[in-house]
This record gives sequence, C-alpha cells and structure tokens, in this order.
Amino acid sequence: MQDIAYKLGNSLYLNITNRCTNECSFCIRSKPGNFNEKYNLWLDSEPTTEEIVQAIGDPRQYEQIVFCGYGEPLIRLEIIKEVAAEIKAKTNQVKIRIDTNGHANLFWGRNILPELKGLIDFVSISLNAQNAETYNKLCNPMGGKKVFDAVVDFIKEAKKHIPQVEASVVGLPGAIDIEKTKKIAEDLGVSFRKRPYYEEQYVP
Ligand code: SF4
Repeated sequence: MQDIAYKLGNSLYLNITNRCTNECSFCIRSKPGNFNEKYNLWLDSEPTTEEIVQAIGDPRQYEQIVFCGYGEPLIRLEIIKEVAAEIKAKTNQVKIRIDTNGHANLFWGRNILPELKGLIDFVSISLNAQNAETYNKLCNPMGGKKVFDAVVDFIKEAKKHIPQVEASVVGLPGAIDIEKTKKIAEDLGVSFRKRPYYEEQYVP
C-alpha cells in the first residue's frame, strides 16, 4: 500500500508525486526498500486533494506539514494550493512548508511564487551546488544548463512572497563545495541547511 503521509518528529510529510525534473545522483529514491524501512513512497497513482486532506486528518496535531516527494511537489501546484487552503481554513497554528528543487518557474513558464503567498509559510529550496557545472553533474536537470541560475532566481523571488526561505545542500562527501554554496545562500539573504546524505542517516 502506498503512503501519502508519514510522520517524522512533530512534522507530517505529504508524498504527492513521484515525478521530478531532476535525476540527482544522490536521490534517496535510488535507495532500495522502503523509506526509513517503513514507508512505501512509490505511488500507484498521484493522490487527489480529497485523499491528501483525509490523510492529514486534524492538522492541529502537527507543528509542520511538509509537501515533498518522492518527487518534486510543485509539479502539482494546484493540488498544493487547494490542500494548503484547506489546512489554513482549519488552523493558522501549523507551519506549512514545501521542500522543492526550485524549478517551478521554469516548469510552469511563469512566476508561481505570488500564488503561494498566504498559503505557504516556509519554502526549503535545494540549491545543491556552488555552480552550474557541479549542479548539472550531480542533478542531471531536464532543463539543462540554465537550471542552476533559475534555482538561484527562484530563491530570490521566494523571499518576496514566502515568510521563511531556506537554501539547502546535501552533505555529499567530496562532491560539493559546501562553504561556497553556503556563501551563495548568505549573499541571497536566506538561511542555509546541510541535509544529511541518506547513506549516513536520513532525518528531516
Ligand atoms: S530533486 Fe529531489 S526528488 Fe528530484 S531527483 Fe533530486 S533528490 Fe530526487
């Protein structure tokens, strides 16, 4: 049975798609078996708004509700907007977050960030590298060479519409210059987080 929602700490994670515009060499999806040896995140079909709302239950029991994958959640922009609106109608106490690769404006061919204003409290964007060359090597983006700059632009634009913005990088041994990537985040004026590489340990 597929898992649409799963709990990590006090957060509820929503697995809304398996589609993605990257093919990262470090993607947790390439790890065999269930996520955290517990959850089957491979979807037979993408869940509807109603199915996601039902899987959440009472949102007030969580500190955060996070749209994520196995895949790139903003590929399902309309579903995110609908579900976030349903949560906000029930409570303002839970933080709503999106974990994204930052390709959405390229994917949709427009600036989608104003559409998330008032619905999303926090966006965590995978910057993943210190430059386009490293990004392309590690992430194999469908959009090609222009994608890294588009991710940087997405971070800049997110700051205008979302209260909390973070750029993140996977702590991949030897492959990424973490300090240079952190400096890009600092220069953009957003917080920075090094995510654990799944071979070490996967925690939110
Ligand atoms: S962007 Fe995320 S879901 Fe997509 S391939 Fe990379 S790590 Fe996997």
